[in-house]
Amino acid sequence: MSFKDYLGEARAIFDRLYPDNRITTVEYEGPNIIVYTKDETLFSKRDDLARQIAQELRRRIVIRPDPEIMLPEDDSKKLIEKIIPEKAGLHDVYFESDTGEVVIEADEPSIITGRDSSIIREIKSSTKWSPRVVRAPPMHSRTVKEMRELLREFKQERREFLHNLGIKLNAPVMEGESWIRVTALGGHREVGRSATLVSTNNSRILVDCGMLNTTEGEQPWEGAPYLYLPEAQPLSSLDAVVLTHAHLDHSGLLPILYKYGYEGPVYMTAPTRDLAVLLQNDYIKVAYAEGKKSPYDSKHIREMVKKSVILKYNETTDITRDTRITFYNAGHILGSASVHMHIGEGLYNIVLSGDVKFEKSWLFNAAHNRFPRVETFMTESTYAGRDDYAHTRSDAYSALTDIINRTFDRGGSVLIPVFAVGRSQEVMLSLEQAMREKQIPEARVYCDGMIMEATAIHAAYPEFLNRELREKIMVKGENPFMSPIFKRVESSDERKDICDAAESSIVLATSGMMNGGPVMEYFRSWVDNPKHSLVFVGYQAEGTLGRRIQRGSQELTLSDGGRINRYPVKMAIETAEGFSGHSDKKQLIAYIATMQPKPHRILVNHGDGEKSYEFSKLLHSKFGVEAVALKNLETIRLY
Ligand SMILES: [Zn+2]
Repeated sequence: MSFKDYLGEARAIFDRLYPDNRITTVEYEGPNIIVYTKDETLFSKRDDLARQIAQELRRRIVIRPDPEIMLPEDDSKKLIEKIIPEKAGLHDVYFESDTGEVVIEADEPSIITGRDSSIIREIKSSTKWSPRVVRAPPMHSRTVKEMRELLREFKQERREFLHNLGIKLNAPVMEGESWIRVTALGGHREVGRSATLVSTNNSRILVDCGMLNTTEGEQPWEGAPYLYLPEAQPLSSLDAVVLTHAHLDHSGLLPILYKYGYEGPVYMTAPTRDLAVLLQNDYIKVAYAEGKKSPYDSKHIREMVKKSVILKYNETTDITRDTRITFYNAGHILGSASVHMHIGEGLYNIVLSGDVKFEKSWLFNAAHNRFPRVETFMTESTYAGRDDYAHTRSDAYSALTDIINRTFDRGGSVLIPVFAVGRSQEVMLSLEQAMREKQIPEARVYCDGMIMEATAIHAAYPEFLNRELREKIMVKGENPFMSPIFKRVESSDERKDICDAAESSIVLATSGMMNGGPVMEYFRSWVDNPKHSLVFVGYQAEGTLGRRIQRGSQELTLSDGGRINRYPVKMAIETAEGFSGHSDKKQLIAYIATMQPKPHRILVNHGDGEKSYEFSKLLHSKFGVEAVALKNLETIRLY
């Protein structure tokens, strides 16, 4: 069996249709074929031509200008800065060599695009770059900027990596008996260390590689998925890794794959990449600060970035020679995805829900549940237990405003432990609305930890937010995250001033389960005063301080720089239900009941203890289909 020469065929088709094409290079870039040309007219017709040839070749074609005909980036930037009128409010100019585009960020894009588009034409003809003019993001994200720089640094290495990946993807499929298996490596009948292996006679694909929510004294690698199982070894033999979203219980140990021999691609959305890097780097920082070892270094995170392949929602991509995937909005956090896997040519389809929210939230649309085909569906079950009651976003809103009003009435302040990603932004939006609609008194809302940085990443990817929020964010003066009520806390001195202040305030601080982080400073200062309130808005895992307090501990012993001190719990302990990024039982059932088409078999994962098993029994009786809750280390054959 020989490799099909797609590159040669692509060139031959161009020569036939467009003999004077001045093509210089034809190469793979992951699943796509990239054609570089020095002919500007060929480039200007790129979309029509690419579509036509893709149909004939059955491969996606991208036509780019040869870098030799383009003005170098630095010179182009200087020229563009000179061409653009001052009143347009130019913010930034950066180059996306992958697409031959120059991105121009400005306050008033319409001044640049203009009615007669003369500025655009001038930029194009003098630099040969294609200008894309966008409104400057309203908030500055350090992570997004660093990521852009990192990708520029890795440009040449990524080009080689993606070319070699393309060769592998176009290798002929091994004939013979077809089979498909799913192996539970982590996060099955538990919450944490999510890892599921999908293997076929042609490929091995790992979905997620998370860590357990670490508790005090525990070494992080004790909470690793069962990666040493023969099915996953050696790691270098895995063909692809897919990441559903950035939370550490899904992404936290992905960098160790690159430490222990994996060199292949990881598929994810752009915000998932940025948020995962933010959370992983913070995880290393916190581990060292607490005198613990980290199972990987920042160089392994960089390696992950180098090997990342970015997908959009609803875009289908070959990830191995017999499998293609499509990401769909999962409604859980920024960039979170459900993964649709199409195996073989029409052979079999699996959908893995990832963490999922089937309700429109302040941030996102409800999870997508229409798929081309689904034979097996794997669903999470975090809140699918018998005793998990339904709480909506409006329940959450009234509970939180009620707690704040009661606390302010007695002259106290409100402390809310939050995850930097997801819950923080939901709570910020609800507080902004409550103050705007005068449901609670005006007060300062302090954001401590990585909250503002995570929020800025949200603002950098408006296309992943629901329409209302997206539109608000882009209008000056209406962006709720930019409201003057929010104040970023940067130093320990500021923290002390907030703790000692006479007037009531609201503090959002990490970590969300009170396993350390700035939230602890406020807590130590306010815990013995009954006028203040501590409000939980998210899941508190077994073994965390948050869980102990929520369960009603009267007194806590905390270590203060080596000294053990006792703290009586006198501040009011409250919970505002309904902010969850997960669907509860009722919502999950509605999500499956309205799914199109109906799955033939359901696998249940991502639930504490008996929850997954009980939920699988419920699904079986409700929908009359096979439903299984695998245990970690178990394998099921699907085909
Ligand atoms: Zn999650």
